[in-house]
Amino acid sequence: MRNLLTYLLFILLYNTSFGQIAEVRRITKSLCSPEFQGRGYVNGGDSIAAQFIAEEYKKIGVRSLKRSYFQYFSFGVNTFPRKMEMKIDEKELIPGIHFLIDPSSKSCETILKPKLISAKIALNQERLIAEIKEIINKTSAYNSVVFNFGNLSVDSLKLLASIKYEVAEFVPVIEVVNKKFMWSVGRDQLKNPIIQVQDSIFKDNKEWKVDIESVFIEKHTSQNVIAYLPSKTKKAKTIVFTAHYDHLGRMGLSTYFPGGNDNASGTAMLLSMAKYFKENPSNCNLLFIAFAGEEAGLVGSEYFVNHPTMKLKKMDFLINLDIMGSGEEGITVVNATNFETEFARLQKINDDNQLLTQIKKRGPTKNSDHYWFTTKGVPAFFIYTQGPNKNYHDVFDTYENLSFVEYNDITTLLVKFVEGFDKH
Ligand SMILES: [Zn+2]
Repeated sequence: MRNLLTYLLFILLYNTSFGQIAEVRRITKSLCSPEFQGRGYVNGGDSIAAQFIAEEYKKIGVRSLKRSYFQYFSFGVNTFPRKMEMKIDEKELIPGIHFLIDPSSKSCETILKPKLISAKIALNQERLIAEIKEIINKTSAYNSVVFNFGNLSVDSLKLLASIKYEVAEFVPVIEVVNKKFMWSVGRDQLKNPIIQVQDSIFKDNKEWKVDIESVFIEKHTSQNVIAYLPSKTKKAKTIVFTAHYDHLGRMGLSTYFPGGNDNASGTAMLLSMAKYFKENPSNCNLLFIAFAGEEAGLVGSEYFVNHPTMKLKKMDFLINLDIMGSGEEGITVVNATNFETEFARLQKINDDNQLLTQIKKRGPTKNSDHYWFTTKGVPAFFIYTQGPNKNYHDVFDTYENLSFVEYNDITTLLVKFVEGFDKH
């Protein structure tokens, strides 16, 4: 009986203190839903997400730092709003599963008859140029090339990585891949398309019917979404939580990338930190920034550090959350080696409270929005979770594939870490 009571009390405390898991699930699910269009640049996906975040800030009761929650900025981006069709032998291929369009590709409505180019030819500049010349001069039966490099060493593949972009300046390229697809955002447009196809569906000497439409937007306007929760304590330190809310958006009419782990999960965690600290006031000032344009090359955070709405010098520490949906194998902290004292404190909180299985240490890297702050001297950690969910930048990074197993532990860790700042 006593045990049962202790257990019930534990569950109750656990759920009321940091137990906003249902909220986090609701927010993540919304951000991943088709209405949010993969939070990219087709059908206003990023702005729909920004509006949603602003409404959540309002519901929580955190105020805007300036006149509104939004900080606007513009950049060029290549998009695929409509047609995304490809056929081989009259068999319709599924975008995102059988084939993937390079994010910088140009529109293409044609029948491709590609010449197979091996790694050996691709690495021999003279022979490669001769092949391309034949295609351009129409002295060949082909109108494009297909690269099938098979199982090459990582070094050779690196050597070959840029060749497709050089060739795509002249002719369309099909690239056969035998690994998982990984999409990204294109900031420019090539003169021709590059289409990746899975090894399993590839057949040589075939005609590929392609109908792909891309639109380059020279000036796409997006927005960071910023909220502030000041402390009642005078001379309080300022801690900043950041997470990018954008993802890759749509690849044609039927395919979008939900970006569950990357980074609906981190956005939801940022909002749940705002909610927690609104209900449990901290002795620190807290700034929350949901960044746009991360997947397009850390564009939103770069804009922010160059047009800060709060002096960067005022920021005592920044915690960037990106890929927060798992944690079975612990978390990794980027910039840990730059801030040994803070990292030791994080470790101690973890050990004392028996939270995560491990906290891995990593040096500085340019792999998320903390990066620009680091270059400007703002102390920052970038935290990401690790676990069996390896879906990354593909159509399988869904809400359903997120475990959130360590969500409560990470929240506890972050709350205690922030609370420690007024004592240090
Ligand atoms: Zn990300």
